[in-house]
Amino acid sequence: MALSLVVFGPPGAGKGTQASQLGHSRGIPQISTGDILREAVHAGTDLGRQAKTIMDKGELVSDELIVGIIRERLRRDDVEQGFVLDGFPRTVAQAVALDEILTGGDPLVIIELNVSDRALVQRLSARRVCGRCGATYGASDGEPPSICSNCGADLVLRSDDRKEVVLERLRVYQEQTQPLVAFYQDRVTFRSIDGDQSPDAVQTAIDAAIDIMAVTVVREERSSVG
Ligand SMILES: [Zn+2]
Repeated sequence: MALSLVVFGPPGAGKGTQASQLGHSRGIPQISTGDILREAVHAGTDLGRQAKTIMDKGELVSDELIVGIIRERLRRDDVEQGFVLDGFPRTVAQAVALDEILTGGDPLVIIELNVSDRALVQRLSARRVCGRCGATYGASDGEPPSICSNCGADLVLRSDDRKEVVLERLRVYQEQTQPLVAFYQDRVTFRSIDGDQSPDAVQTAIDAAIDIMAVTVVREERSSVG
């Protein structure tokens, strides 16, 4: 059975880290819409130019454009054993489109990372990025680091990690993405994970949840057959 996975949660919940680890441990590609868009902008493709125009205006890339990107990406051969989506779906309309794209395939396994607003603001305001090589540094205990251990350049606060921007990103998340919980919560393949724990503990909880859900799905398939 292929493992079709979605990981979602608010900005700062650590979904990129978790999705990347899941990709490695399960041997499936991590598909990040943020990465795809950044690469397209960098490469100057048609898609990249369209996306850049929209993002430069501070607007969100449309559902239609993002769904098109995902539809294309899920046609590639490397998703035969599954995939982990990170940053998609971001709205209920995108979730509906994803169900449509996956019609007839294995059930989608959905993980929500549930993190308190207070923890998110704290984590994001302690996050730093290297001005030269782009390495990012998470919030460990105490003072955030100031020098890049990779290249020695100064670390800075990412412009979208400033507190007022963080609060706005959380507001947008509540309004546009939080409704995914109601959309998915009645499925046997949905789990909400406590994201206030350490990254290692979150990873362990996600792995356990996925394994339990895989068993549930197989059981349901058997009972519906026999
Ligand atoms: Zn650096």
